Amino acid sequence: MTFDVDLFVIGGGSGGVRAARIAASEGGARVALAEEYRMGGTCVIRGCVPKKLMVYASAFPAQIEDARAYGWDVTGGDFSWPAFRTALDKELIRLENAYRSGLVNAGVTIHPSRAVVEDAHTVRLADGQRITAKHILIATGGRPFVPQIPGADLALTSNDVFLLDALPASVLIVGGGFIACEFACILHGLGVQVTLAYRGEQVLRGFDDEARGHVADAMTARGIDIHCHSDITALERTADGIRATATGGAGGTYDAVLYATGRKPNTDGLGLGALGIGLGSNGEVLVDDYSQTAVPSIYAVGDVTDRIALTPVAIREGHAFADTVFKGQVRKADHELVASAVFTQPELGTVGLTEAAAAAQEPIEVYVATFRPMQTLFAGRQDRALFKLVVSQATRRVLGCHIVAPGAGEMIQLAAIAIKMGATKEDFDRTVAVHPTIAEELVTMKSPVRRVGNA
Ligand code: FAD
Repeated sequence: MTFDVDLFVIGGGSGGVRAARIAASEGGARVALAEEYRMGGTCVIRGCVPKKLMVYASAFPAQIEDARAYGWDVTGGDFSWPAFRTALDKELIRLENAYRSGLVNAGVTIHPSRAVVEDAHTVRLADGQRITAKHILIATGGRPFVPQIPGADLALTSNDVFLLDALPASVLIVGGGFIACEFACILHGLGVQVTLAYRGEQVLRGFDDEARGHVADAMTARGIDIHCHSDITALERTADGIRATATGGAGGTYDAVLYATGRKPNTDGLGLGALGIGLGSNGEVLVDDYSQTAVPSIYAVGDVTDRIALTPVAIREGHAFADTVFKGQVRKADHELVASAVFTQPELGTVGLTEAAAAAQEPIEVYVATFRPMQTLFAGRQDRALFKLVVSQATRRVLGCHIVAPGAGEMIQLAAIAIKMGATKEDFDRTVAVHPTIAEELVTMKSPVRRVGNA
């Protein structure tokens, strides 16, 4: 049987673009890709990139204040959201074009259209055009999920924040995950009065308990009003703004309400169920270690599979798929010891097991250092940094590393290399410190603060 193309990729985000480019340029495949919105996907258009640029923008007021403590005669001035947005839009257009030309240069045919799967080897575009493919890759990502409460249509999601015409004076952020906490810090830094409502016990569920508590305390100390055990039951527009009815203290009237209550894989209406492709409870495509679905010609990578929803993971999965199917290099994406960062202020960087997960697995030692970093201490701030290593009593390997500090995202990337290589606590200890730095705490924690279990 002959096909129009060797590979049809649905979705031009992190995973889909990498797979298409490698299959075409290194695997010699004839590749087509459909993208229904903007090339680059969530990361580039409404995720990591614009968010990180907003993190940078939001950090200046504190930096300017600190500069005064260091002797500079500077004053803050006003932040112009329209000026920032114009610059942001320009940068995103540049990146979008770079993604598009990367694909075109690799020989990939782009269809600016929605695509759905018709059968194991056929994709249908929005205009009805059918394209047959030897392999189909689902890389459609995910979208924000808003619970169906009365007035849910009044809520903004992370998608909307980057497109606001003006910043609200006050915002209620609903949710306690990394996106909720990051936007809380960003908007607070830009001068918005921020209240955060989370139904659980503590924000940043899934991260190390001590680290998430440390971040929550720091957010509160900076003036973010966090209400845990608080659930929003209804939203209503009034003359003064949006009234939120809540259990647990976050009720009130706000200029805007932002929901960051999780994401759902984009599988609705894709035609997968009819083909016998299994979907999980969140609507995610079920795949094996090689990202292959129950239909052998159809694969799926990235957020749509709901494994680890991070850009570098989607890229690795897309690359491993292209190597396996088009280059004869059979390999799985490695989901072990994936480091990540939460770009709150201060940042949280993490790799490996939390203390609780490690203790459930084996006897451990826990090393913790908290201190006030020299740079902000000099400026009169009370901010504290936290460094934490979770170590196996039996093997001495560092099982987890959790850092809350300015630049934690940068530091954890480097610590992750050592931990991925199997470094022991003694390997950390015999590494001479770089002084004076914040990161030197990683190699100077001498005694455990506690031992959990006995080897
Ligand atoms: P996506 O990038 O979502 O791409 C999927 C593409 O498919 C989209 O462009 C969509 O328009 C398109 N599409 C969907 N359905 C169809 C269809 N039927 N036909 C055609 N096209 C379709 N990750 C990090 O690593 N670090 C971060 O700091 C970080 N910050 C984030 C901040 C926010 C606010 C959000 C929302 C996410 C963040 N992420 C971050 C997660 C990261 O963006 C995702 O993990 C990553 O983009 C997933 O890539 P993907 O290829 O699976 O999907």
